[in-house]
Amino acid sequence: MRGGGGVIARHGAGMAGGGRAIRRTTLLQLGRLLAAHKRAMAIGLLGLIGVDLLQLFVPKITQEAIDRLARGTATPHLLWILGGGIVAIALGMGACRFLWRYFLMGTSHRIERDLRQTLYNHLQTLPPPYYDRVKVGDVMAHATNDLSAVRMATGMATLAAIDALVLAVASVSIMAAMNPRLTLLTLLPLPLLTFSMAWFGRIVHARFTAVQEAFSHLTEKAQETFSGIRVVKAYGDEASEAGYFAARAAECANENIRLAKTWGLFGPLISALATASLAILLGAGGHLVIRGRLTLGEFVAFSSYLQMLIWPMMAAGWVVNLLQRGTASMDRIQVILQTEPQIKDGPCEGIPPPAIEVRDLHFTYPGTDIEVLHGISFGLAAGGTLGVTGRTGSGKTTLVELLMRLYDPPPGTIFMGGTDICDLKLPALRGLFGYVPQETFLFALPIAENIAFGRDDVPRTEVERLARLVAIDEEIRAFPHGYDTLVGERGVTLSGGQKQRVAIARALATDPDILVLDDALSSVDTGTERSILAALRGGRRGRTNIVIAHRTSTVREADVILVLDRGALVEHGTHDELLERDGFYADLHRMQQLEAEA
Ligand code: ADP
Repeated sequence: MRGGGGVIARHGAGMAGGGRAIRRTTLLQLGRLLAAHKRAMAIGLLGLIGVDLLQLFVPKITQEAIDRLARGTATPHLLWILGGGIVAIALGMGACRFLWRYFLMGTSHRIERDLRQTLYNHLQTLPPPYYDRVKVGDVMAHATNDLSAVRMATGMATLAAIDALVLAVASVSIMAAMNPRLTLLTLLPLPLLTFSMAWFGRIVHARFTAVQEAFSHLTEKAQETFSGIRVVKAYGDEASEAGYFAARAAECANENIRLAKTWGLFGPLISALATASLAILLGAGGHLVIRGRLTLGEFVAFSSYLQMLIWPMMAAGWVVNLLQRGTASMDRIQVILQTEPQIKDGPCEGIPPPAIEVRDLHFTYPGTDIEVLHGISFGLAAGGTLGVTGRTGSGKTTLVELLMRLYDPPPGTIFMGGTDICDLKLPALRGLFGYVPQETFLFALPIAENIAFGRDDVPRTEVERLARLVAIDEEIRAFPHGYDTLVGERGVTLSGGQKQRVAIARALATDPDILVLDDALSSVDTGTERSILAALRGGRRGRTNIVIAHRTSTVREADVILVLDRGALVEHGTHDELLERDGFYADLHRMQQLEAEA
């Protein structure tokens, strides 16, 4: 939430030119969302209008009773009938109220659900470069605050607007029929009520947002401290963490107090304005009763209608705010929905053979101006193992991410089976790869499901075979529920090396043509590493393995090793050839051996 402003500002800047287009699409989209639920909306609206019309009868019945009592023409029988009428009306109103609550509120929740799903599906189509620019917290803010603002605008605002309109027109007409002059007089303070409600609403909303932000700063801080509790304790940093927390807790309390103050000031003001009309009625209307121009029953009915009017006048101001907030939120959501995935499918159908050719590849990350790969060229026939090594930051990960088009390489630089990868369909290209990134990520699922991730057709025996291949089977069996043990906060905590091996088994489950291990064995001891690599070479005959590592011991058995230094391909060959050459690789190897011995 804290970063929400950043995205909003960025999006806001983007809207300077396309603002009107966005606003038009926003309104169209809102219209479409409402139209998709028109039956439920219609039933809900009928219920709402039903409540409004029915409640208009109650003052008329009271008027009849009072006037008959005043004139002495009332009989107990008649009074019971009138009382029964009021009860019947209350029951009818109850039924109608259920209809609008269920259908109108239900629809707004369904609209929120549809929009949330659309947003989620769209966010999943956006590639890594998009997520380099935005923060997860910002995306969360859109998925929560903005969507609930749209729900309020489509649900509460529609409801309140129609309710207010029907009630206002009906009660003003009935009042005017009783006494037009008195109606005009008593209505005088009411527009003021609408304006102050709109004004008050804006201030309360700003304060309320500040409260929410302060609260999310507070929870972020607590979450950070407890996620990093080991670091905090190791550095004996508890006191200063407590200090930060106290500051945020104070901020939270202060914002809440400011909100309470605003309510405290404006609440009575609004009530005072609302009672001004009643005061005018007492003075002017009471005078008319004394002079016999208005019956007592009419006076009481009039006062009931006037009270009915207070809510619509307040609602009008509130609705304006809800709609403004809802459309602003919808604008922000539209900006995301209109962000096209920068990495697009090419025109060529079919799955290419997994032979890679890279020609004079230069690459600069989008939004930066430092070239990180400088004219890389190499070829790789299907089958065999390619090693890629070099110091941290030399461009190894960038190179394989480009092969999969997680970032887009310049056209005409990377070919798969002779076709430029930019011309291929993305699923066809990415389907060739099984990728184990540097930072392994496991989901909060049982271990077996983490291995068979995204596929229902991998039998347990296959999952276990893969686990044996990556030498983790025994460790998994030692967990409380074996392969069904849950991973993550509510389950077991895996060590770095265990996570890496589960992630490799996951990549193997798709039996990929090209397996990419990006420093994926860095937390595994060298003995286990060697046996896993040997098993991969044996078990994946005819398939390609790309093994990236800064440790030369990891790549030494590869058929060809590429050596990168600061984005340039400085050497290539087998381990023995490279040692014989006595260049960069040989230096790197000697240095790492010395380190290992030390
Ligand atoms: P390696 O895998 O060899 O450690 P990387 O390919 O991760 O190296 O990084 C190569 C260079 O590219 C580094 O200077 C790094 O800072 C930069 N880099 C990596 N990812 C990004 C990114 N998403 N945006 C901008 N620069 C990046």
